[in-house]
Amino acid sequence: MSLQVRSQVSLKPFNSFGVDVQARLFAQAHSDADVREALAYGLEHKVPVLVIGGGSNLLLTADIQSLVLRMATRGIRVVSDDGNNVVIEAEAGEPWHPFVQHTLAQGLSGLENLSLIPGTVGAAPMQNIGAYGVEIKDVFAGLTALDRQSGELRDFSLQECNFAYRDSLFKQQPGRWLILRVRFALNRVAPLHLEYGPVRQRLTEQGIEHPTASDVSQAICSIRNEKLPDPAVLGNAGSFFKNPLVPAALVAQLKIQYPDLVAYAQPDGQMKIAAGWLIERAGWKGFRDADAGVHKLQALVLVNYGSATGLQLLDLAQRIQKDISERFHVELEMEPNRY
Ligand code: FAD
Ligand code: NAP
Repeated sequence: MSLQVRSQVSLKPFNSFGVDVQARLFAQAHSDADVREALAYGLEHKVPVLVIGGGSNLLLTADIQSLVLRMATRGIRVVSDDGNNVVIEAEAGEPWHPFVQHTLAQGLSGLENLSLIPGTVGAAPMQNIGAYGVEIKDVFAGLTALDRQSGELRDFSLQECNFAYRDSLFKQQPGRWLILRVRFALNRVAPLHLEYGPVRQRLTEQGIEHPTASDVSQAICSIRNEKLPDPAVLGNAGSFFKNPLVPAALVAQLKIQYPDLVAYAQPDGQMKIAAGWLIERAGWKGFRDADAGVHKLQALVLVNYGSATGLQLLDLAQRIQKDISERFHVELEMEPNRY
């Protein structure tokens, strides 16, 4: 028995919003055996088990009457290497950004655009994390998950994960799959993705004409550090709303009234509107009500100035949703997972 289950634990250090709620029970999993033991504990004591990673995509609105199981499994290994193509596997509890840095230090490219995203490897497939023109589906080689219904292990291929914009099978079937380890197809000579405006611009400013993957990572880290609040300083969960995918006709109609509307064409003919533009245009940027607010530099990010509750943040988010719907006839969907 290695699993240590504690009672009435504050989750404040375990969610990037810094919301202070209690977990009825709390444990950390350092191995697959710990995971199985926690699930058995939950069954035996009739307590649901809520799996978390870094807590950077959570909105906790009440005390959690579950066993909160924080994934803390560690380990990185090379699965195959043909000289150019390398498949690398990491345990769910590996912190994401240090893992990205590790791959870059090995001369492997593929994850550089996903630098500085908080959280763990195991949560990355949940919403198919994406940034600066790359999503993990673009470098995904497979994952192993525990089916909490049957207790069996299952390997998933790319096609089986149903990855989409900030979405996956694992998000669509909440609580069923516990992701244990994830594999990535990386490359020693992969083409870099520089098409996302500010990335090339930043490299050019730095006088870098022929960037390496590490150069791209550093450029993205510097851009992110300028625009995004550090959760260690100001509680937040990154983008609070997804960028809405809407019919092109709606964008054409909105552009008559708002010619500077920011929207990008999608391969399926839809348009993706920059939700941050809508929220800023509606006047919410920098708004603050008690300790819940909208970040001063990035309107897509809700922030906790200190003692905001999850319900206060939720209330602010719902007010923004209603306003955006009334003004622009666009429905904003919240991105963080709400408990
Ligand atoms: P958690 O918040 O702990 O959990 C998220 C969800 O996944 C929960 O539903 C949880 O139950 C589930 N889960 C966690 N681990 C597992 C597991 N092993 N098996 C099964 N289910 C699991 N996201 C992006 O996509 N792109 C960005 O650029 C980005 N930037 C961000 C910047 C900041 C400053 C912050 C605070 C957040 C940002 N995010 C971004 C959101 C967040 O970092 C990612 O979604 C990240 O993958 C969440 O990882 P986590 O370990 O913190 O997950
Ligand atoms: P930004 O560069 O100000 O751009 C605003 C939005 O427009 C982005 O959300 C992006 O959509 C879209 N966009 C911009 N350039 C694009 C292009 N060339 N092609 C297609 N779409 C484009 O965004 P930002 O807020 O500073 O974030 C930068 C990147 O980091 C984005 O990819 C963003 O998703 C990611 N990020 C995510 C989170 C999160 O919590 N989910 C938090 C911080 C940053 P996409 O979001 O689809 O890329």
